[in-house]
Amino acid sequence: MITAETIERIIRFDGGDLPVVSLYARVGQDGQATLATRLNGLLHEIRPLGRDSSLGRQARMSIRGDIDRIEGLAGLGGLERAGPGSVAVFSCSEADLFEQVMLPRTVRDRVMVDATPWVRPMLAVLDEYHRACVLVLDRRSAEAWELYQDEMREAGKVEDPALRRPIYAGWHGRAEHRVRNRVDDLARRHFRTTARLVDELFRTGRYEVIILGGHPGEMTGFADFLPADLRPKIAGTFTIDPRTATPADIRRGAEHVLRQYERAEERRWVAEVLDRVATRRPAALGLADCLWAGSVAAVRTLLVREGAPVPGVVCDESGWLGSAGDACPLCGKATRSTADVIGELADAVIEEGGAVEHLLDGAELEEHLVAAALRFSPPPPPEPSA
Ligand SMILES: [Zn+2]
Repeated sequence: MITAETIERIIRFDGGDLPVVSLYARVGQDGQATLATRLNGLLHEIRPLGRDSSLGRQARMSIRGDIDRIEGLAGLGGLERAGPGSVAVFSCSEADLFEQVMLPRTVRDRVMVDATPWVRPMLAVLDEYHRACVLVLDRRSAEAWELYQDEMREAGKVEDPALRRPIYAGWHGRAEHRVRNRVDDLARRHFRTTARLVDELFRTGRYEVIILGGHPGEMTGFADFLPADLRPKIAGTFTIDPRTATPADIRRGAEHVLRQYERAEERRWVAEVLDRVATRRPAALGLADCLWAGSVAAVRTLLVREGAPVPGVVCDESGWLGSAGDACPLCGKATRSTADVIGELADAVIEEGGAVEHLLDGAELEEHLVAAALRFSPPPPPEPSA
């Protein structure tokens, strides 16, 4: 599981004057031999830095250490994936940083040496996944789970010890009334304790949404105990019997809620772009418009429908992206053909500080594969070159 701690550690890493090597490489599509070749090709670009006397001695040593360690990755195994993805590696060997993060989506292969870890492509992918706090509760107990991507793990537990003690249940009317009140008091106290647990979990900043599981009446009762700022974070609820539910049951229920939540979020994104188009604010709809907007770094948020890759062309000189053409209409250089021009567009958007959202459904976009909210209206596109 990609933990929030790992991501935090990478983002906050400070190696002082030492350089950090950041490397992204695709995995899961072919064997380890190809991964080794790919890593080697990337590392080849930075090998000269390990001998560059304009860098300090310790910086050179650090880069050489990074290269050695990253080279070893391909031989270690553990980088296999069921589906295609990428591995992100951040290394600063002289300052004791070496982190690898598996990304559930591919990003472009590349390597970068800089003062800080180059995290933008990693964050762009991870942003699409919500970290949910799943709380399964009844009037006596509560269990918190962390659900992220396709993994779930325990995050906390509340068992009110007072509820374990037998309660005196007198046959006298008055006593019965007192007992009932006491049970309600205990449930309230339990809900308060549980709300505190959720509050503490959220204070770490790791969770985005809350998913509640339990009996409908009890979940409603509990929601009132959550602090006002946390109530809007409830993404949804599912009905389950906390006493008999297995972790697999909980996961199934919570994942269903999360998918619904993500679908609703996708619909909001699409509605926003369509509204921009309708009201003539900067937006792009369809591949041609989006490629041109991406060519001039106008894209703020790109929406991509999941689907088959679309071939196209790229100019590595000017950053022009197109569907076809041997020569770049901006600078005249020869273009490079690519099997996946939308992937190239997504990479370009991320590099310019924009966001990319992959739509699992995207039915509202109809025939359009891509749409974008833009920062500004791009100039008219150039005439296609012969
Ligand atoms: Zn060009």
